[in-house]
Amino acid sequence: MQYRKLPKGTERISVLGIGTSSIQASSEREIEEIMDAAIASGINFFDMASSEAKPFAAYGRGIKGRRDKVYFQIHFGANYETGTYGWTTNLDTVKRSVDWQMKALQTDYIDFGFIHCIDEPADLQSIEKAGIIRYIEELKEKGVVRHIGLSSHTPNLVNKVLDMGILDMLMFSINPAYDYAGGELDYATDSYAAGSVAERMDLYRRCETDGVGISVMKAFSGGQLLSAKTSSFGRALTEYQCIQYALDKPGVLTVLPGVRSMADLKRILGFCNAAPEEKDYSILGSFAPQDAAGKCVYCNHCQPCPAGLDVGLINKYYDLARSGDTLAENHYKNLAVKADACVRCGHCNSRCPFHVDQMARMQEIAAYFNC
Ligand code: SF4
Ligand code: SF4
Repeated sequence: MQYRKLPKGTERISVLGIGTSSIQASSEREIEEIMDAAIASGINFFDMASSEAKPFAAYGRGIKGRRDKVYFQIHFGANYETGTYGWTTNLDTVKRSVDWQMKALQTDYIDFGFIHCIDEPADLQSIEKAGIIRYIEELKEKGVVRHIGLSSHTPNLVNKVLDMGILDMLMFSINPAYDYAGGELDYATDSYAAGSVAERMDLYRRCETDGVGISVMKAFSGGQLLSAKTSSFGRALTEYQCIQYALDKPGVLTVLPGVRSMADLKRILGFCNAAPEEKDYSILGSFAPQDAAGKCVYCNHCQPCPAGLDVGLINKYYDLARSGDTLAENHYKNLAVKADACVRCGHCNSRCPFHVDQMARMQEIAAYFNC
């Protein structure tokens, strides 16, 4: 398992985490076994926006004696009073629900306290007015909440909350369908995206620049991308391609596939030992030609570069530096081989499925950084 460090914290977060939205398909006993197996495999990150109340007590029993081995995302706005998920912006209900979630999880602290599922400015205003953000901040001041997060699907709204300067983590829906086809398609229920390709990429870069980690939900577009029949491209991608796609985006720390069973967990864990070609999602370049063309997605399908350039990483640092990330320039300058080492062999141009003129781009990057 690989780990990525939370920019504003010491936590090292596993690149694979677990979403709980479908885990109620298993019994409580099975949920405990799934958690055991996940922790034994190095997974340490668990999102708790569950469809039902069921996983909380099972997770609570599962973490006994090893609370320090796991991080929980707890959602201030998810309500389980009826036994199934409900969304609330009522402060008293939020307080009751968070108390209940902590009791069921047998914990006295929350690693990531999330402003839950806000997509509209009106909803943001309403939770501010209700005092929910203030409540999370108070819990952070008391040490009960360690970091504040936000879950959302909408770049505009996320930017408004990033402007407040309170976030350490964002839970955002990232997959090729949302990035390249978002807003243009008639998505099925519970599967929607917002923002243009450029707005979404700008958001990922802003998160990296602002030191806000991203945990990824809906990496498979609710499963739609895994079948040619339901994929918005009419072509299927695999789970491993979708996970790698999300992990390559700036700011992303972890991807949270929804696990229904032990078989799901084992299959997802196969990502850790998958061969590079199993994770290579460059076929996407032939799915979404208009929107994807000419823009480097950092996939490194064009490797190997005979001059030893890490083409994807160099492009990522360049884009981040231009969007205001001051650390990106230092990272770039620490690379052993930089853009000025490009010998203009043309290999990357001929290999790139996204039709990026990388030879020209390397000249542009070398000129920008002066090396
Ligand atoms: S140039 Fe093309 S193949 Fe190479 S990293 Fe960028 S998008 Fe991928
Ligand atoms: S054109 Fe430059 S960056 Fe691309 S493969 Fe050749 S040497 Fe590497």
